[in-house]
Amino acid sequence: MATDIFETRESQVRSYCMNWPAVFEKASGCYQYTEDGTRYLDFFSGAGALNYGHNHPELRDLLVEYVANDGVTHSMDMKTPAKRRFLETLEQLILKPRNLDYKVMFPGPTGTNTVEAALKLARKVTGRQHILSFTNAFHGMTLGALSVTGNSMKRRGAGIPLTNSSKIPYDDYFDGDIPDFIWLEKVLEDSGSGVDKPAAVIVETVQGEGGLNAARMDWLKALADLLKRHNILLIVDDVQAGCGRTGKFFSFEEAGIYPDIVCVSKSISGYGLAMALTLFKPELDVWEPGEHNGTFRGNNLAFVTAARALELFWSDDSFQQELGEKIQQLREGLEKVSAHVKDSTVRGRGFLTGIWFPNPDTAGKVAAEAYKRNLLLETSGPEDEVVKLMPPLNISSEDLQKGLSILEEAVLAATG
Ligand code: PMP
Repeated sequence: MATDIFETRESQVRSYCMNWPAVFEKASGCYQYTEDGTRYLDFFSGAGALNYGHNHPELRDLLVEYVANDGVTHSMDMKTPAKRRFLETLEQLILKPRNLDYKVMFPGPTGTNTVEAALKLARKVTGRQHILSFTNAFHGMTLGALSVTGNSMKRRGAGIPLTNSSKIPYDDYFDGDIPDFIWLEKVLEDSGSGVDKPAAVIVETVQGEGGLNAARMDWLKALADLLKRHNILLIVDDVQAGCGRTGKFFSFEEAGIYPDIVCVSKSISGYGLAMALTLFKPELDVWEPGEHNGTFRGNNLAFVTAARALELFWSDDSFQQELGEKIQQLREGLEKVSAHVKDSTVRGRGFLTGIWFPNPDTAGKVAAEAYKRNLLLETSGPEDEVVKLMPPLNISSEDLQKGLSILEEAVLAATG
């Protein structure tokens, strides 16, 4: 293809367009179409921002109607009917049935904004500054969120350390017996560890960018109990693993925990629109009016689609049940594909899953072979050694099978 404006004008910081050089023009369900009409099966889903696929017809119609009727689009944090409807729906369909009592804050448009708000709130509430996060964690690219992110390539340009934060090894804790948390216990007590007692621990239940390491539910429960005993706040970053990705609305539900703060973004709008929430226990609402604000805190277009998406998918158990069956199908399909490569393992949980390969070059080759066969999927992990699959949650079982078959061909081509 001739050199074009993307190549000459956009910064070299681009990444996805280098792996997938086509120009994508249209999208529907689990498919994207290039300018020349070539169809790609999308197992990338906007890095988890499109859990319900592209352009869901009912959400699209609602959006068109809202705009056609001059609905307010931008409103800072003013009250609008669209925001009211979203808050009421969240309360009725998500929070109440799960016995979760949270105040809701709109911290800005994206995932990194909700993490920033969570870190700031934890520091304000506790009066302590130190935040613990995990190795290979990913929490965003603004400086606070970056300080708790464990990816040295992403941190390098900003200088380290950024703020007062330390990393706890994640892998040691998610596999095998429940740890006794000896090191962590010492740090939390601030007794002889030399590490300041933290304000909070921030955790992803599945490390989406860090290699699809999945925390066990009993481990999460033990962590939550430990933090409670030491009066340290637990922040669950559900930006990627939330909104149904792991099979339940929140990724921590099966652990039976009630995190102090929860970060939500990516798929919450239901339509790939920028939207983020920070949820926190009511007693943590110590903000002063205007203390943490921003211009794009309440996108009414996103409120419109978000409220309807919650109704469409979360008003009864049927969506979750079907999803559970497809999760099983995906797991079995991945085990079969993984059997082709010695020592490779299936990683992750639910529809946030993939295959770890012992040779770090393999995953990139598999993704390239998949692209040649019109399947979009990305890689994950500190050395990009994991092939990551994130199909839309409402994909049909047939399309899921199609993707698995292409993946199998791609793995055989990349390793054969
Ligand atoms: N937290 C997690 C767990 C994420 O996966 C991401 C994005 N991949 C972020 C935070 C940051 O979100 P955003 O890119 O929307 O700022």
